[in-house]
Amino acid sequence: MVLAELGGSISRALQQMSNATIIDEKVLNECLNEITRALLQADVHFKLVRDMTTNIKKIVNLDDLAAGHNKRRIIQQAVFNELCKILDPGKASFTPKKGKPSIVMFVGLQGSGKTTTCTKYAYYHQKKGWKPALVCADTFRAGAFDQLKQNATKAKIPFYGSYTESDPVKIAVDGVETFKKENCDLIIVDTSGRHKQEAALFEEMRQVAEATKPDLVIFVMDSSIGQAAFDQAQAFKQSVAVGAVIVTKMDGHAKGGGALSAVAATKSPVIFIGTGEHMDEFDVFDVKPFVSRLLG
Ligand code: GDP
Repeated sequence: MVLAELGGSISRALQQMSNATIIDEKVLNECLNEITRALLQADVHFKLVRDMTTNIKKIVNLDDLAAGHNKRRIIQQAVFNELCKILDPGKASFTPKKGKPSIVMFVGLQGSGKTTTCTKYAYYHQKKGWKPALVCADTFRAGAFDQLKQNATKAKIPFYGSYTESDPVKIAVDGVETFKKENCDLIIVDTSGRHKQEAALFEEMRQVAEATKPDLVIFVMDSSIGQAAFDQAQAFKQSVAVGAVIVTKMDGHAKGGGALSAVAATKSPVIFIGTGEHMDEFDVFDVKPFVSRLLG
């Protein structure tokens, strides 16, 4: 179930409940069951869905709601708030400041769109007058440097990398030093992508983080990843201090819910979403407008 359908299903469940003459326990349960089904089908992690329905039942205590209370509105508001809660870890991520040097390290699985997203992030800030720079510390995937170089050249963003140096930590440190001297205010370090269980690559990621001391680590996640998202996001978080999430390929037919569960797994907010392959197909992510749109 893609996200648009998810929103439609939840809205329908709420509408059906609204159509009932009397809203009692049975009607509420039916509505919550429908919502649960829709969220699970969209790959939102089952624990989050379970917590959400438990919370709604707690908030909407039908026995305690005095006659005259608008139960429909209270239930709708509770569903809206709980969906927002799934997506909102309750604290903002570190936000780089223009003119003050910040180091931002990107991590994620291979193919998640990490390298593309590094350039999008740099380009987004460049358009707002920042001086970004890109460092390719991915020595694992052949062609990674060429890809970053190509993207950076297209966007006219300075880049650093090496065809001969095989130590990603050295490249990362040298790149960061180079761009600090050039007064860049947003130094973006792209790291090797990894498959699920690769202890060596996780160790490499830790070493790059230790050596470059990033102000922010951004975890990039493909929106089509499904229920596996929660555990994978958690595995990254355990290795390196993830501070924000970017969800890619939101333009596709992905279920999306899995990646959104990454917020809970990393306790970090989604800050941008990728909506296409092009440099400017990149949007700031805000929880409330997103949930409002989702529910139509
Ligand atoms: P990496 O291995 O994580 O660095 O992934 P890449 O940056 O090489 O991206 C993998 C593929 O996903 C490429 O074909 C990208 O063009 C594509 N891609 C990245 N972000 C998006 C997005 O938001 N939407 C779509 N449709 N494709 C994307």
